[in-house]
Amino acid sequence: MDIDFDCTMCGKCCHNLRLPLTVPEAITWLRRGHQTQLFLEAIPWPEEPPEDNLIAAHKRRRSFPASSGSLPIRVVAVIVAAFDGPCPNLKEDMRCGVYGSRPLVCRIYPAEINPFIPLNPEQKACPPEAWTQATTPLLRQGNIVDAQIAALIAESRNTDAADVDAKAALCEALGIASVALSNEGFVVYTPDPSALLSALESAQAAITSVRPQSWQFVSNRSATVDALRSVDAVASERSAWETESAEFLGFFPDEVIGNSGSNA
Ligand code: SF4
Ligand code: SF4
Repeated sequence: MDIDFDCTMCGKCCHNLRLPLTVPEAITWLRRGHQTQLFLEAIPWPEEPPEDNLIAAHKRRRSFPASSGSLPIRVVAVIVAAFDGPCPNLKEDMRCGVYGSRPLVCRIYPAEINPFIPLNPEQKACPPEAWTQATTPLLRQGNIVDAQIAALIAESRNTDAADVDAKAALCEALGIASVALSNEGFVVYTPDPSALLSALESAQAAITSVRPQSWQFVSNRSATVDALRSVDAVASERSAWETESAEFLGFFPDEVIGNSGSNA
């Protein structure tokens, strides 16, 4: 697949986002006084897949092991910058106000970070002319042309893996142990920003992580709950956007996160 791309500076990719952040980026984001959320999903992992299963290897690298009842699972925790409307860093002229230190995902957009998701211009915020009138090669035979973008994608994947222990420690510190089933959505937490910042700073400094021993699946589908219980997982049925103690709990479809911006 060959794709050309030139950014038109329209700024669309810097609006209405759930922007995935690395742990250091989340700390910076919170210190600037902006909002973040935690998106949680878990993959049933009854046995280790073969080493040559590359999709499983990708999931393993960015998740931590845990259990739900007697079912082994792997938990994926994503810290996201959450905002409706313009990004708090976006200036009126549609330039990024923190361009030199903008998150990795902003530097990579519109390329894909996940190696198993092909780039589809129709699913990006960019206007048609950013693709149809472009002269700069972005993909050739499916491979990223720009060495710098390729290096940023590799850095993003490596950081995602390196952050796993800190995210496990973060969940433990915040008492988070409810999770959605992978591919069904995410359980979303909106912790108090100062508590989250403090927990993140401690989690980042932790030498060894402490992992919640038992997680509970929550789903708004009774069939999912029944299927999970049939394999001895702990699962309960909840309606969407339910408030639970101090947490804001809800479900987002998968496609909500992963959109980001990179306009200069
Ligand atoms: S590039 Fe990223 S940090 Fe900068 S304004 Fe856009 S979304 Fe915000
Ligand atoms: S990367 Fe962002 S600013 Fe550039 S064309 Fe795409 S949506 Fe517009």
